[in-house]
Amino acid sequence: MNISSSRTTKYTIAVLTYLQRHNHSTNLQIVKGLRDEFPELSKTTVHRVTARLLEQGKIHSAPATHENAVRFDSNVLPHDHFNCRHCDRLRDILVPRTLVEEVQSQLGKCNIDGPITITGICSRCNG
Ligand SMILES: [Zn+2]
Ligand SMILES: [Zn+2]
Repeated sequence: MNISSSRTTKYTIAVLTYLQRHNHSTNLQIVKGLRDEFPELSKTTVHRVTARLLEQGKIHSAPATHENAVRFDSNVLPHDHFNCRHCDRLRDILVPRTLVEEVQSQLGKCNIDGPITITGICSRCNG
C-alpha cells in the first residue's frame, strides 16, 4: 500500500466513524468535526471520501439542509426522517405502513415509494 492510499484509508475510517456518531452530516460539518484530529484534512478530500462511500453504498443520502447542502446518512436501512424546522437536525423515524397507505389513498394513481420527511420543532428547540 502506498502512502497516498493509506492516507485515504485513514480519512475514510475517520469520516465513517464521524458520520456513525452523528448519524447525519454535511461535508462541511465533517471537515469541521474532524479538524482537531486532522488539521490538514481539506473539504475536497472529505467530498471525495463521502462520494466514494455513497457510491459503495456504505452511506446514504439524507434530506438536504435548509441551505440545500447535501447531507449524508450513516443509516443505510430504509427509514424516514423528522426534520426540525428551527435547528435543521434530523432524526430517524419509521412512518407506519398503515399511515403511508392512508395518504396513498388520497393520491390515487400517484405512488409513494420513497422516504418521508416530517417537519416540526425538536425536543432540544422546544426545551
Ligand atoms: Zn431543533
Ligand atoms: Zn437518517
